[in-house]
Amino acid sequence: MKKLLAVMIFLFAAFDAAAQQPPPFETRKLTDNAYLFRYGFHQALFVVTPEGVIATDPIAFLRPVAATTYIDEIRKITQAPIKYLVYSHHHYDHIAGGKPFKEAGARIVAHKNAKARLEALNNPDAVVPDEGVGDFHAIELGGVRLELHYTGRNHSDNSLVMILPKDKLAFTVDFVSVEAVGFRDFPDGFFPDWMDSLDRVAALDWERMIGGHPFPGGRYATKDDVRAQKQFLLDLNEAVRVAASQGKCWDTAMTEVKLPKYEKWANYERGLPQNIEKFCNYWGRGYW
Ligand SMILES: [Zn+2]
Repeated sequence: MKKLLAVMIFLFAAFDAAAQQPPPFETRKLTDNAYLFRYGFHQALFVVTPEGVIATDPIAFLRPVAATTYIDEIRKITQAPIKYLVYSHHHYDHIAGGKPFKEAGARIVAHKNAKARLEALNNPDAVVPDEGVGDFHAIELGGVRLELHYTGRNHSDNSLVMILPKDKLAFTVDFVSVEAVGFRDFPDGFFPDWMDSLDRVAALDWERMIGGHPFPGGRYATKDDVRAQKQFLLDLNEAVRVAASQGKCWDTAMTEVKLPKYEKWANYERGLPQNIEKFCNYWGRGYW
């Protein structure tokens, strides 16, 4: 009995340790100046120059250790000051936890709508940006240029596309997905603006893209991926339009509408019905 108890205590302790284990993280060099920091399922780009560092998304929501780990990883590469922290958009899971960057002297930059939203939300974990930018802004530091492009409303009303022109490298978060159907019912999403935004992304000057979550197999996204996602949204839109015209929105459409062309895409089984629900709002009721 005593032995059994000891084994059980050992197992509980082992389970507890596993549960508290921080997620795996990695830092990967992408180009001369660009690095990818991944913490669990979230990713951020940072740019190292002789005059300082431009960091993006702290990815430390409910896990402040992610931000300090991120800074430790930067410090393994350079002692240059962290001059900027750029938010991809205002959603907490990507931008909460920026305090240690601010304390290190970083100026926080985001789209002006993100700044306004974060001021209104007043969440102490989501540090309000120092600067809100418009449709275009470029940060020049140590001979490196990072461009911030606003391509309109999509997964939020304040998503920035970040581009390093020298490397033709782009970074987007949550609104460009690769071989995956939409997340839930596209929370905070804007249609049809999202489709137009994808066209504008495809028209920008870049060749490979990283995302705020890893793309399949850790690969880069290409403009073909952006076009495929746009086509998915158009196909979803058309299928739900037809279903709505037959009076099937919401519930029947959510179970009956299938898009077999995309059945190999991530989140298809779980996500498609919720994606349909969103488009049923419009075609069945006239609002998003
Ligand atoms: Zn988001």
